[in-house]
Amino acid sequence: MFFIGTPILTYFFGKRWYCSWVCGCGGLAETAGDPFRHLSDKSLKSWKIERWMIHSVLVFVVLMTALLWANVATGRAILQGISEPFYKTYAFLIGSVFSGVVGVGFYPIMGSRVWCRFGCPMAAWLGIWQKKKSKFRITTNGSQCISCGNCSTFCEMGIDVRAYAQKGQDIVRASCVGCGVCSAVCPRGVLRLEGAVADIDTRAKVSNF
Ligand code: SF4
Ligand code: SF4
Repeated sequence: MFFIGTPILTYFFGKRWYCSWVCGCGGLAETAGDPFRHLSDKSLKSWKIERWMIHSVLVFVVLMTALLWANVATGRAILQGISEPFYKTYAFLIGSVFSGVVGVGFYPIMGSRVWCRFGCPMAAWLGIWQKKKSKFRITTNGSQCISCGNCSTFCEMGIDVRAYAQKGQDIVRASCVGCGVCSAVCPRGVLRLEGAVADIDTRAKVSNF
């Protein structure tokens, strides 16, 4: 799934197939976290921190998984000794404190997708495929934009959508979970999620928003 299924599904649907349709953390963010989505920090500094953190977690996870595979392959106790502190540290710092306490408890402070933006290794992996090899994108008709900022305000992933719209640039960002809300709240119809499936989902969002 990780090496074949994920790239194929992400090619057709972007990371939304997982982050918006499958993941339990995403489901919680879209329900309990939805009233706080506008609190996501849109600054450049936040974007830089996000990229460093999420890719660091991905490297950590890959390293830990490699150690576990090495243990299984060799059956060597010495590797067991190295990997155990790794996954205990991961379980406490990332699995418990970050994804649980900060990821959910900080909704009213940092918005609804703190974990997805800064800590989820799956989001990092999906994001790489989305950015480099995916048909999914949000297209813009920049000439219609009145710079109201609704799209940026309600982007739960902290993307400054308006900046792209003003330049008429397609939004191809690794972090976009394809929730469709930027498109739904735009009063000028500037933003469009590519593909029929995306459009149906966007209309559903409009009726719920
Ligand atoms: S679809 Fe729009 S609102 Fe949703 S994460 Fe992507 S850019 Fe943000
Ligand atoms: S919501 Fe639409 S009109 Fe308003 S800034 Fe965004 S793209 Fe422009």
